[in-house]
Order: sequence, then C-alpha cells, then structure tokens
Amino acid sequence: MRTDFDQELEDRLLRYTAIDSQSDEESPTQPSTAIQLDMQRLLVEELTAIGAADVRLTDYGAVLATIPATTDAKAPVIGFLAHVDTAPQFNATGVKPRVLKNYNGGAITYPDAPGLTLTPEGSPYLATKAGHDIITASGTTLLGADDKAGVSVIMTAARHLLANPHIPHGAIRIAFTPDEEVGRGVDKRLPADLGASFAYTFDGGEVGEIEYESFSADGATVTITGVSIHPGMAKGKLVNALHLAAKIVQTLPQATMTPETTKGTEGFLHVTDLKGSAAEAVIKLILRDFELEGLAAKGELLQQVCAAVQAGEPRAEITCEIKPQYRNMRYWLEKDMTPVDLARAACRDIGIEPVSVPIRGGTDGSRLTEMGVPCPNIFTGMQNIHGPLEWISVQDMGAAVKMALGIAERAAR
Ligand SMILES: [Zn+2]
Repeated sequence: MRTDFDQELEDRLLRYTAIDSQSDEESPTQPSTAIQLDMQRLLVEELTAIGAADVRLTDYGAVLATIPATTDAKAPVIGFLAHVDTAPQFNATGVKPRVLKNYNGGAITYPDAPGLTLTPEGSPYLATKAGHDIITASGTTLLGADDKAGVSVIMTAARHLLANPHIPHGAIRIAFTPDEEVGRGVDKRLPADLGASFAYTFDGGEVGEIEYESFSADGATVTITGVSIHPGMAKGKLVNALHLAAKIVQTLPQATMTPETTKGTEGFLHVTDLKGSAAEAVIKLILRDFELEGLAAKGELLQQVCAAVQAGEPRAEITCEIKPQYRNMRYWLEKDMTPVDLARAACRDIGIEPVSVPIRGGTDGSRLTEMGVPCPNIFTGMQNIHGPLEWISVQDMGAAVKMALGIAERAAR
C-alpha cells in the first residue's frame, strides 16, 4: 500500500534523523547547540535545489524560504513550520534509523537493545498500522521523528508544489526552527520574518489530529536565603535554607495538582529543580493550566505556601518570582477559527475525520499565536516521542503531506 510520496518521505526521514541535532536546555547560546546548524545548512541546500525562493539561514538559527504564489487571486500568505532540534531527554547521538516494510502487525525488536520490544498491545495505535512501512531507531537512541517527520512532510510538499506550478496556491512561507524542545524556538523576529497571515506547525501525532489548544504556562523561581554561621557556634542563630526549601516542597499539593496525578484538561504545579546549601536554596517550578484563572490560582497557592513558611521563620528571606512562558493558543484562535476550519476541511478532503484534543504542553505555535500569527498544530504520525520506542508510519507522513497540499489549495480558493 505504497502511495505517491512514500519513497521520498522515507528517504528524507532516514537522511534527516541520522543527523544529530539535539538541543540543550543548559546552553545559553542561540541556537542552543551548533550541531542544529548542520541540519539547517543541509535544508538550505535542499530548498535551493528544489527551487524555493528567498532561502536563508537567519542569525537566530531558523531557515526561511518561500514557495511563490501560482495564482493572482488574493490568497493569504500561509506558513508551514517544523522544528529541527530533537529532545534533550534521551540519547540522540548516532541515530540508526531503519525501515520495517509492510509491517506484519507483531512485536518489534531492536538490533542494538536485545531487551527492548515495541508491541501493538503496549501501543494500540501501532496495532492499526499492519501493512504500513514503520520507521524506528535501533534501540539505544530516540528516532527524532519529532520533528524531522514535520521537516520531511514540509520538504516533500514544497518539492511537489514547486515542481507542479499548475497547482493554484498563494505564497507559502516555510520556517524550520531550532530549539523548540527547550522552549526557545520562536525568536521575537520570527513573526515579522515569516510574514504569514496564519501558519501551521507539523509537529503532532496521530493521523487526523488538528490541535489548537495548548497549556498556558508560567515558570516560578523560589529563592530562600537562610542565616549562615559556623555550625559549632550556631545555636539559636543558624537558619538552614535547605530545611525551609524542603518544607515548601512538602507543603505543596502532592496527591493532586501534580503532573503524575492529572490528565485531560487539569493543570498542575511541578517542582522541576531544587538546588542549594544551608545558606541559600533555589526551587524551580513550572505552572500549567488551560485557563488563565486556573494558572493564576496555582501561582497564588505557591505564593501562599512561601508566605506561610516565611511567617514561621522571619529571619530567613523567601522570594517567589513567577514569569509567563507561553499562553493557550485557543484564546486567539477561538476569535477566528479560519486556520482551524481550513485544516479540518483539508482533512475531510482526504477522507479522515479531524480530531482536536488539548495539548498538555506547548508548541512553537503557542508562542507564534500569542505574537500575532495564529498557528494550529497538524499531525505527522510520530509516536512514543523522546525515547527509544519512538516510531512513525511512512503512510501517516504521506497523509500529512496531503494535508499540507490541501491547506495550500483551499487557502487560495
Ligand atoms: Zn516536536
């Protein structure tokens, strides 16, 4: 059951996933790792070779290009985006992608990790893919279909449109961004440089998924300054910042309102980092909720806990700083659902019923939407991301290419 774009998608995904382009949370540079530019330079070459216009690598590490309009009609300029970095959470060096042609529906084992198995029982979506061509890594790395599947889909759609100028569409802007996985994919210059009325990230999972709701997200830093003194003469004087930090963490909700106890549209408070000494300790947290009121309530709860611990030990100094990270794209998209409706129509055109579930996270599109470029997220087929069991169906990517083509055509009608 090979379809039109399968061989090209397979070749592209194998070529792109073999390149290490992992991002790094700890790095202060932009992009966070220089290896992402290896991927970007290849894309500049390939975009130029297929005849894209305005191809450039920006100094903030994004690759931009244009598929020129083929119709005089006043079509909006639309954008297609994918990120080139792979997740820092798992080994991404030395990815050896392989293709299982015409998947037999059984358990999948790995050449480099004899104990590892991917089963249709453990991954029910896989059970629906018998007969597809499945791509996995070799067992010791992630695959990086997140989001090289998105890159492959956009490159394949771009190559097809540039080779077939009789297909009517408006101008399409392409952006391949670095550092999505570390939350730094959207530079403040990107919306203007993209120059699109609205855009789509190709960074979603199951076929049919069209996402336009993400978390709203804040980050919090709690700093506890104790009173430091030689322990030998500390009686009645020393105030240990670590004890106070432990008290704050202990007082926060644990049986509820944490990532491990919530799902669906529930938000959470998550302690991500705790470092320090008796003299000073720093707690880092992330706050997530789909609604701004819920997000604010979680911030207030954290402030109250800090204030209560502070009240019990006035000699210490406890500060809690909460900063916005990104906002639910629904707040903007629900005012004008055109980009979502267009994608849903394109999805039905290829015989697939679209589904929209809230993303328990954020995408480059969350930031872009907030910055004025409405940007829902479209499926690519990627599954079990950020780990060794990551896999994708070539035919699912083919459906995503048809989505991109359908959106381009419908936007020009
Ligand atoms: Zn992604």
